[in-house]
Amino acid sequence: MTIAFIGLGNMGGPMSSLLVRAGHAVRGYDLSADARQALTDAGGTVAESLTEAVNGAEVVILMLPNSDIVESTVHAAGFAAGTTVIDMSSSEPLRTRALALSLEEQGIALLDAPVSGGVARARTGKLTIMTGGPRADLERVEPILACLGTTTRAGEVGAGHAVKALNNLMSATHLLVTSEALLAGERFGLDPATMLSIFNSSSGRSGSTENKWPNFILPGTYDSGFGLRLMLKDMRIAVGLAAQVGTPDPLGEAAAGLWERAAEALDAGADHTEIVNWLRKD
Ligand code: NAD
Repeated sequence: MTIAFIGLGNMGGPMSSLLVRAGHAVRGYDLSADARQALTDAGGTVAESLTEAVNGAEVVILMLPNSDIVESTVHAAGFAAGTTVIDMSSSEPLRTRALALSLEEQGIALLDAPVSGGVARARTGKLTIMTGGPRADLERVEPILACLGTTTRAGEVGAGHAVKALNNLMSATHLLVTSEALLAGERFGLDPATMLSIFNSSSGRSGSTENKWPNFILPGTYDSGFGLRLMLKDMRIAVGLAAQVGTPDPLGEAAAGLWERAAEALDAGADHTEIVNWLRKD
């Protein structure tokens, strides 16, 4: 199968390389020359334009920052009828649904398959992939997705994007409260590594205590590869979803407000784990 892979950044880079290693014919495209070079080094083919990348591809995978860029890319690409487009970016569920409807009229299937697991699991093909779309379409692309991780169908188109945003609202809120607890404990004279080891066999554990704090915050590297602004985007999507369906979301709104303030204070390229440094200073 010929796969066009658009968006070769922190996640799309290692994901496209894995598809090459699995024997798929991958033609990648990214605005960044460095990102294109990384795919060439991994043995993939790089296109010089978006239209060249998608020309003749049966499947197009998108791993782009947000819905605005996904929509403009889809409109500029000019997909042929019969193409299956898999949006693996963390996009906005209602916009995904609308886009899928308009593409369906042109004989193009749009599926959503966002991921969790970060750069480390993108490299090892152990991502959690949450999908939305008709079962038959998803089964057809499952051999591709299986190279990247384990898939669970969340529901119809847009369902994957909804659950992804909700997951990240939880994850970002966990990271904030975990950081508040650890900073308070530290001021009390406790050792953060000891606290983490206790939390990790207690009820306060989460991805923040098991992964983010020990791997990126305690060592002081802040290099998870997931941008703070991308996390904030996901929180806004989740809070917007709660508002659209009319469920109360006071904690999520408060947490998103704090991430907004951190995003204003920190550099545009800050890693999401740097929220701790903002808390320390604020
Ligand atoms: P990134 O910024 O590292 O990569 C995005 C890439 O898209 C960049 O290389 C950029 O040059 C490229 N790009 C932007 N506009 C483009 C265009 N018009 N045409 C072609 N290329 C374009 O971001 P990332 O961390 O790889 O995240 C990608 C998506 O995955 C986001 O939606 C993010 O929320 C989601 N996500 C990220 C992580 C993570 O840990 N980094 C985990 C899960 C989900």
